[in-house]
Amino acid sequence: MAHTGLTIQAANAWIDGAFRPAQVEVEGGVIARIGAPVHRRGPLIRVPDDAVLLPGLVDAHVHVNEPGRTEWEGFRSATLAAAAGGVTTIVDMPLNSIPPTTTVEALKIKRGAAAHSAYVDIGFWGGAVPGNLGALAPLHRAGVFGFKCFLSPSGVDEFGHLDQEQLIAAMTEIAALGSRLIVHAEDPALLGGDRALGADYAAFLQSRPPESEASAIATVIDGVRRTGCRTHILHLSDAGSLAAIRSAKAEGLPLTVETCPHYLTIAAEDIPAGAAAFKCCPPIREAANRDLLWEGVVDGSIDAIVSDHSPSTVELKTTGGGDFGLAWGGISGLQVGLSAVWTEARRRGIPLSALVPLFTAGPAAVAGLAGAGVLAEGAPAHLTVFGVDDSLPVDARRLRHRNPISAYDGRVLKGRIRRTWLHGDLVFDASEGGAGESPDFRGEPSGTLLSAATGEDARAQKLAETGAGR
Ligand code: ZN
Repeated sequence: MAHTGLTIQAANAWIDGAFRPAQVEVEGGVIARIGAPVHRRGPLIRVPDDAVLLPGLVDAHVHVNEPGRTEWEGFRSATLAAAAGGVTTIVDMPLNSIPPTTTVEALKIKRGAAAHSAYVDIGFWGGAVPGNLGALAPLHRAGVFGFKCFLSPSGVDEFGHLDQEQLIAAMTEIAALGSRLIVHAEDPALLGGDRALGADYAAFLQSRPPESEASAIATVIDGVRRTGCRTHILHLSDAGSLAAIRSAKAEGLPLTVETCPHYLTIAAEDIPAGAAAFKCCPPIREAANRDLLWEGVVDGSIDAIVSDHSPSTVELKTTGGGDFGLAWGGISGLQVGLSAVWTEARRRGIPLSALVPLFTAGPAAVAGLAGAGVLAEGAPAHLTVFGVDDSLPVDARRLRHRNPISAYDGRVLKGRIRRTWLHGDLVFDASEGGAGESPDFRGEPSGTLLSAATGEDARAQKLAETGAGR
């Protein structure tokens, strides 16, 4: 796609960690200049004063599932949902697709599936499973941003979990590579088995108690201390574990943690019987726990808010007729994350400025994504306009991800993404067709497949895969 020049003026642009008036000038897909209005490149766009100009959001935790379970989610539908949610960079999880991303060959297959369907930039996590320990180096060299492991069963047979000894082995190997480990931290010894639990949410919640997270996180912290491995705790639900995470950070351990919009915006007490759209692991906990998670957001203990977008078919979500033990665990929230969290933040008197880093530079740092999540000269021109007072009624059937099921269905959220630019190209415009069918999307997929290798390597890889340069 041709990159025409572009100038955007905003009274509230997120630059260097604060909102300020600015003119952002785009040339060749890159932010060429930020400052006072002197030069003009291409058409001038003025962001209305009731909206803010943000860097494109970064979501480092997305399960795309293609190939192999494309009926659950695919690159086209997932990246369209991302663009509509202001997200311009996602990092894809190594499991639920078939094959899982645990070998170089599997990564090639993934990238091939994504190459012509990416409406946003995509990076890839690799997997660390019992079968590839000791052989992670080739996958690291092939450009994955790090390695994911589970300490409890993952939910799919082809992606096994690590025991404590294997966890230390993985950490030792990954530390030596200079990569990073991201961990699904639940202790299987403290989890109820996968079995029928009925339609009452409380029974499911009891089957995955906070102690299961606390125990696994203690194991992870101990491993980081022993190996020095840069490690990230995925989707924290148990706020009680924040104390251990804070003290590990204070100790100087290379540890980060994320939570998800559903843990910050939904409470167990409010989940209706049989409403499997709300099932995820670890589970959404009680309102009192949610309040403590918010403390972690405000005091900086939590590094990132990411969707853990983990869809399946509606059939799998409703397996067992609303039995929380039998339904697929995973929430599809890629498109509405910022709006959902902002809605709850407003209720709590928390400013947008407290949230923006957790949706941008925070997750970019977690994944080691250079140039993503900032408005800065020389960075890719990924931008999004967020109408802070706009109303966003959520209708699952109108969201962009593949299967029409959402934990936010029927909610009316505050704040809405109006426009998104990727590499300087307008890829989403809510003013043209609202949340309806295609008219608000423009052009062909122009996302870049990112690689954690050097810039030259990444560029060469993209050219080879897409056969088209920029
Ligand atoms: Zn996940």
